[in-house]
Amino acid sequence: VAKKQGRNLVKPFVPAMQEELAKRIRVEADLRAAIKNAEIVPYYQPLVDLKTKEIIGFEALARWKTASGEFIPPNEFIPVAEEAGLIVDLTDQLLRRACGDALSWPNHLVLSFNLSPIQLSDRLLGLRILRILGDVGLPAHRIELEVTESAIIQDAVTARIVLDDLVNAGVRIALDDFGTGYSSLSQLSNYRFDKIKIDRSFVASFETNDKQDKVIKAIIALGAGLGVTITAEGIEEESQLQRLQDLGCDIGQGYLLGRPAPAESLAADQIGTRIAQRR
Ligand code: C2E
Ligand code: MG
Ligand code: MG
Ligand code: MG
Repeated sequence: VAKKQGRNLVKPFVPAMQEELAKRIRVEADLRAAIKNAEIVPYYQPLVDLKTKEIIGFEALARWKTASGEFIPPNEFIPVAEEAGLIVDLTDQLLRRACGDALSWPNHLVLSFNLSPIQLSDRLLGLRILRILGDVGLPAHRIELEVTESAIIQDAVTARIVLDDLVNAGVRIALDDFGTGYSSLSQLSNYRFDKIKIDRSFVASFETNDKQDKVIKAIIALGAGLGVTITAEGIEEESQLQRLQDLGCDIGQGYLLGRPAPAESLAADQIGTRIAQRR
């Protein structure tokens, strides 16, 4: 009886696991092909100076457009690329492409590029990035790398080596998704960040939540104290924009200010000028 019950308990999980595994193998093979065929490309979302409303740069956001025309978001394929050992090739390809695109923008615009957590435990990462910049001819001061706290915590010693290589060459570093990790404040005093990006979740709820408003206010004050630029992500509403401007937040990013768009559709009027006055 026990054996029978045991079998009944285990049985339903097997097909599900097999399916999961089969799917994973399929996605991995598709991803490998997508990298080979350069089907994963950067889209660009504007970063806007909240005082002047001018675009100061763009964040590159990876987009995988499959043959069937479907878009797979980065949160689905970046982890697969990491586990399958494809992240180095994918990053090299995306960064090369993004740097090439940035070369065609006016000189004052910055390219912001995301690094995955596991990449910061790769000692050679800094040198590889600098080589790409050199190959493409994009000056180091025109690029900013976005890293998360979890990336630094994983292997603090190597992360410091990598960040030092980059910072010494003139690359700027932004701490992404600030407020969602564990040891934000200790990371802030351990490293020289140029920018802090307040996570979207704070911006999404701060008007309806007085405490969130106070948290954002405190982060902005912290930035001012440390001499670090503060960016707010995920601005969707006019009222959020207004409040962030009132609080003295430096830079904004969000659907209200501009959605991620392919390189070829960054209109000339969007680059190097003010965000069009709405209404
Ligand atoms: P992230 O770096 O925090 O990027 C911001 C995410 O918020 C992007 O999602 C962006 O499309 C989205 N977003 C921007 N404005 C708004 C808004 O107003 N409302 C809402 N609801 N969302 C907004 P996306 O493009 O899906 O990227 C997700 C994450 O994937 C990124 O988060 C980043 O961590 C990672 N990622 C993207 N591209 C790359 C890449 O090339 N390499 C690596 N390693 N990671 C990447
Ligand atoms: Mg980012
Ligand atoms: Mg972010
Ligand atoms: Mg995020």
